[in-house]
Amino acid sequence: MIKIKKGKAPDFLLGKTIKNRIKKVLKEKNKHNFSYDNKKKEVRNKLKKDFKNKCCYCERDEVGGVELQIEHFRPKKAVKECKKNKENFGYYWLAYDWDNLLLSCSTCNKKKGTSFPIENEKDRIHKPVLDEKGNLKMIKNL
Ligand SMILES: [Zn+2]
Repeated sequence: MIKIKKGKAPDFLLGKTIKNRIKKVLKEKNKHNFSYDNKKKEVRNKLKKDFKNKCCYCERDEVGGVELQIEHFRPKKAVKECKKNKENFGYYWLAYDWDNLLLSCSTCNKKKGTSFPIENEKDRIHKPVLDEKGNLKMIKNL
């Protein structure tokens, strides 16, 4: 296992555009049409640099023809383990959170899918956590 020290988020995930996008996400929840606009390559390249061009799960790299993808550690659309919850939302509010983004190969990404098991299901957070000013708390602040 390699130790990963993620650097600063790409500009796209830090600016005013993303703040407006997050407001939209909070309204639309998992119906939000998630998009990096034309910045997907920038985000992916930053992840590739931080993850030393390796899948965060199996450590395979692109040399063997493996495609590395942006992976949402906490799934954005739905969580497989929440099937009993009628509002089976994923962690949509973390879709643009740099700390929620990893780099994985297509095989691992597909295998993980929307799975995000936690030790005790009753401890799962189902709604975004906001501060006293109504700003979204990202993973770092939780
Ligand atoms: Zn992998």
